[in-house]
Amino acid sequence: HLPMPSTAWFVFDAEGLAQGAIPPSADGAAPDAKGYAHAANTIEELAAKMEVPVEELTTTVSQWNECCDNGKDIFFHRPESTLVPVKTPPFYAQLCAPSFLNTDGGPVRAADGAILDYDGNPIPGLYSAGEFGSIWGHYYEGGGNVAECLVFGRISAKSALGSEAK
Ligand SMILES: Cc1cc2nc3c(=O)[nH]c(=O)nc-3n(C[C@H](O)[C@H](O)[C@H](O)COP(=O)(O)OP(=O)(O)OC[C@H]3O[C@@H](n4cnc5c(N)ncnc54)[C@H](O)[C@@H]3O)c2cc1C
Repeated sequence: HLPMPSTAWFVFDAEGLAQGAIPPSADGAAPDAKGYAHAANTIEELAAKMEVPVEELTTTVSQWNECCDNGKDIFFHRPESTLVPVKTPPFYAQLCAPSFLNTDGGPVRAADGAILDYDGNPIPGLYSAGEFGSIWGHYYEGGGNVAECLVFGRISAKSALGSEAK
């Protein structure tokens, strides 16, 4: 298991909202009015609404802003072009819930279902179906995953049996 925080937040400011951190509502309502985020005029007030330690959040935000001012992210090494400060009120915090659908790809699968080594040669006896070596590793094709499980389940099983028979 990857160590994941139980709770994470997106924190941004009025500029971040204007840049599309949360897409505008059709009725023009503010994100906090819709319940999509907390909003506050100070970072301290925002921390209270998030129920996180005030000192921790103010320190984190000022460290981030310092990185932006210096054009160098010494903590996470983000590219300079992404260093946008959190300075203009109102400030927003949106709850971030980690989730994912797929982990397609990793190794490369050949047409007969064989998994290839770094040089493109089949690894003897190793065949796959589903996400492991998925043909959808380069983009997300809606609905393609279960079909791939079925299609390559048959192809790889046949190939594996064929190679065993040899
Ligand atoms: C919410 C959600 C919605 C989706 N909707 C669609 C959809 O509408 N259409 C579509 O095509 N696809 C959809 N997918 C994707 C699709 O479900 C997956 O791509 C597909 O199920 C992957 O199959 P798989 O056999 O590669 O992997 P998995 O189904 O993840 O199977 C891997 C299995 O290996 C087991 N395992 C892991 N480690 C070990 C170990 N060390 N020892 C033994 N067993 C182990 C796991 O318990 C699991 O049973 C969706 C996925 C999610 C999460």
